[in-house]
Amino acid sequence: MIGPRDPRDASPSAIDAVADAFERMEAVSAGSDGLNLILWTDRPRAAEAARLCQRNVDAGREGGILAGIPYVAKDNIATTELPTTCGSRVLEHYVSAFEATAITRLRNAGAILIGKSNCDEFAMGSSTEYSAFGPARNPLDPSRVPGGSSGGSAGAVAADIVRFALGSETGGSVRQPAAFCGVVGVKPTYGRVSRSGLVAFASSLDQIGVVGKTVHDAATVLEVIAGHDPLDATSTDDPVPRYRDADERGVKGMVIGRPKEYFPSTLDPQLTALCDRALDRMRALGATVRDISLPSTDLAIPVYYIIAPAEASSNLARFDGVRYGLRVRGSGLRDMYDRTRSTGFGPEVTRRILLGTYVLSAGYYDAYYRKAQEVRALIAEEFRRTFAAGVDLIFTPTTPTVAFAHGAKSDPYEMYLSDIFTVTANLAGIPGVSVPIGRLDGLPVGGQLLAAHFDEMAMFRGAYALERALGAEAHR
Ligand code: GLN
Repeated sequence: MIGPRDPRDASPSAIDAVADAFERMEAVSAGSDGLNLILWTDRPRAAEAARLCQRNVDAGREGGILAGIPYVAKDNIATTELPTTCGSRVLEHYVSAFEATAITRLRNAGAILIGKSNCDEFAMGSSTEYSAFGPARNPLDPSRVPGGSSGGSAGAVAADIVRFALGSETGGSVRQPAAFCGVVGVKPTYGRVSRSGLVAFASSLDQIGVVGKTVHDAATVLEVIAGHDPLDATSTDDPVPRYRDADERGVKGMVIGRPKEYFPSTLDPQLTALCDRALDRMRALGATVRDISLPSTDLAIPVYYIIAPAEASSNLARFDGVRYGLRVRGSGLRDMYDRTRSTGFGPEVTRRILLGTYVLSAGYYDAYYRKAQEVRALIAEEFRRTFAAGVDLIFTPTTPTVAFAHGAKSDPYEMYLSDIFTVTANLAGIPGVSVPIGRLDGLPVGGQLLAAHFDEMAMFRGAYALERALGAEAHR
């Protein structure tokens, strides 16, 4: 478990922890069925950081709450010591000139970055099959996807390479892979964590998130990376609570909403049963479960898949062969742009740029983009009203199915539908966590807890309680 390192305790030294992580990484990466979870590493550099950390610990200096703990960061989070390619050819070999604030804060807390994790290109996808550097595999069943787009991050934690990883969320990309891999995934409130250094996908939705082996790991890491940053005007200066204290507070007296729209009759009854077992456990701990309704839920997918591509089409305009990464020369400037972009971007990113440009164009803006913004406000308002009416937490399945097989969702719309229970929190800007609540056909099932804006404390209270109440049952 993550916690302050006592030089007298028996926990492995930073040097051993980093060496073990690399050995584990190499073991699961080897062979033709390697998991392909990590894209870039620099072992000598990480080993040097570990030696430095260990020297501090041995000298009795305060090493930070994460001293000597190795981690990986999704490849769309800027680092100066390793490449940041966003899983895209357009940024192949690109090394950022500055690093993300979250990376700096983790280093200051003693954590050691050991790799950049695989992801769908520019975080667009739900399976990590859209990475330009090959698909990642689910450590629990390599014939299945690990989810996405932070599939490498969730997989690295599930495969025991690291205890925690950074991911990013625009529409479920931490919670969904966490659910598919049987680990904990947190999406903080919009504005809770600085996005300085997170490569922009859809700026009104993007947020850095955390994957953890346990709720405690995720809560500790969020404490470290949260808080105001002058480099991100959307980060708020609300004080950061000690999320770890949520463990002692329990769920007694809390009201947990069960929204009927997240339990449609088409949902696998075994999945519903696992969710209801989790709710029963919370009830036994003194929480009240209330049936609620969030009627606009089924509009979330069309709304998200208008707004996210619209913002992406604008954000991705900067990858033009002039400023970053790949440049494919042509007969003139215009031709160079065309060649660079059509060579550099994969099919899903191209589809999003086309879609986004279309919904923003004259004549379609009102019909699609403006309409989507109106419905987004409606979705946010339904959550606001629910929490204002005394509901502390909303409980849902994280995903409508368990991890699917590679290649199972060749129709993009099918892929988009796998985000149905997760995109709502991004549209509303509220925090959410996925925790393992059991297995279906041997594969992990995640339960999702959503809370009101900046009420990560309530979210963690629910998550800790659930993890404790389910114990080993969460993983079998
Ligand atoms: N699967 C969603 C998409 O493809 C979400 C991605 C994300 O959260 N980064 O856009």
